[in-house]
Formats: sequence, structure tokens, C-alpha cells
Amino acid sequence: DTTLLLRVRAARLGPRYVMLLAEDRTEANRLDDVRRDFVANISHELKTPIASVTLLAEALDHAADDPDRVRRFAQRLTEESARLGRITNEIIELSRLQAHEAIEGAERIEIDALVRQAVDQNRVIAASKRVDIAIKAKSKAAVYGDEALLRVAVHNLIANALTYSHEGSRVGIGVYRSADGVVEIAVTDQGIGIAEADLDRVFERFYRVDQARARDTGGSGLGLAIVKHTVQNHGGDVRVWSQPGRGSTFTIRLPEAAAEPTPEPEPSPAA
Ligand code: ADP
Repeated sequence: DTTLLLRVRAARLGPRYVMLLAEDRTEANRLDDVRRDFVANISHELKTPIASVTLLAEALDHAADDPDRVRRFAQRLTEESARLGRITNEIIELSRLQAHEAIEGAERIEIDALVRQAVDQNRVIAASKRVDIAIKAKSKAAVYGDEALLRVAVHNLIANALTYSHEGSRVGIGVYRSADGVVEIAVTDQGIGIAEADLDRVFERFYRVDQARARDTGGSGLGLAIVKHTVQNHGGDVRVWSQPGRGSTFTIRLPEAAAEPTPEPEPSPAA
């Protein structure tokens, strides 16, 4: 957007002088729009789970003399409130990332180790879906950044790959270093895939290809928006390749950290 919008504020400084203040409103306006849309999305997205919690609480109240129903309603209440808690945390995380908060206290992160841990964290879920998850390639590579944020980003891609995989299929993860100083983390599945029309949109917050199924999977539609903003704040990007019915590959690309200086050899004791 190249339009320069000027907001002119006039302040009367007595009967004859007027002070004019001009400022660039372009970025401020854009951020206002982003914020307004985000708030509208949030209200919409929270309405359904809040309504469920309210209804379940009422139902529980009326089921007092039926222990079976009490147990069932209480369990669903626990699930729905856990979901609400998850969505709330993701909204907070995403609004922090969207505010372009600089990565604080960036540290050197060994990406191959981070990916291995993210895979290990998802092994139980993979086993429960009978999906074979494996690291296919693992270059040693490091980046500078916030380890917790990058861990969440990689986890979100792996969790999605498992969610949208068919039973008995495979999820493969690769870490590659390209010649031009880019570290790539690629997560490939053989799942349902994404139609071309949706490919660009899956990174939008709250966007889901299939609303009905998304509700069953318990997703918030924020996972990929969090991935996108995290990698952008790290100076990288995220790409997707997909074919409906064949599967998808999501690739995070990050600038590689310079090699650590090799320590000087200890001087041998003076003869
Ligand atoms: P959700 O919480 O719904 O998974 P995401 O932001 O992580 O939200 O993903 C947005 C949408 O993109 C999902 O609802 C799904 O429709 C689609 N999607 C994401 N990852 C995959 C994948 N690996 N295979 C197929 N569809 C995917």
C-alpha cells in the first residue's frame, strides 16, 4: 500500500496561532485494520465453545440424580474448557507475534536436535493413528532465535501432518542446509492434501479448509498463522506444496547461523 495518509491535527494555541501536526498514518491504519479484524474473528470463534460450556453446565445442574449423565457431562465440560484454554493461549501467542515483537534474547539453536525432540513428542499420537513417523534427512544446522517459539512452529506442522494423515501412512521430516545459507525443515505427509484454491489461505488465522471436520479435530485454525508469523519474525518464510488425495509438504526456511568459531587449541605448557 503506497498511499500516504496524513492525519492533520490542529491545536489552537491562542487566538491567532494554530499548530499543525502531521504524521504518517499508513502503517497505523493497517495495524488498526488488522486489530479490528482479529477482534471480530476472536469473538466469532469463541462464541461456540463458550455456548457449549454454558449449556453443559446447565445440563449438569439438571442431571444431579443420574450419576452416569453427570460423569458424561462433566467429562465433556472438561474437554470443552481445555479447548477454550488452548484457543485463548494461541490467540495471545498470535497477537504477540503479530505485533512484530522482536525476538528477545535470541540464542543459537541446533535445529536437528530441536526437530528430533519435536518428533519424539509426537510419537504417541503417531502410534495411536498407526502413522509411521521418521526423520528422513538430518543435516547439522543452527539458527539464531527463540527456541520455544520455533519448537511450537515445528510441532504445529508435525501435529497437522498427523491430523490430516490416513491410518497406516507415513510422515517424513527432513532438515537440509542449502548452499545460500538457508536451513530448511520439511514436513511431508501422505494425507488428504489441500486444494489449490485453499493453498494460499491456510496460513490465515482461523482459516480452515473444512469447518465441520476442523471442529472434530479440535483445531483452532491458528496453528499455521502462528507458524507463519514465527518464521517471519525470524527472518524466514514457510511454503506449502500439496495435492488433494496425495499429501502435503510444509517447508520452514530460516537463515542459517554463522558457524561457531572453533576454539583456539590450548597452548601447550611452556617448555
Ligand atoms: P487447525 O487448527 O484447523 O489445524 P491450522 O492453522 O493448523 O489450523 O491449519 C489450517 C487448515 O489448513 C486446517 O484446518 C486444514 O484444513 C489445513 N491443513 C493444515 N495442515 C494440513 C495438512 N498437513 N494436510 C491437509 N490439510 C492441512
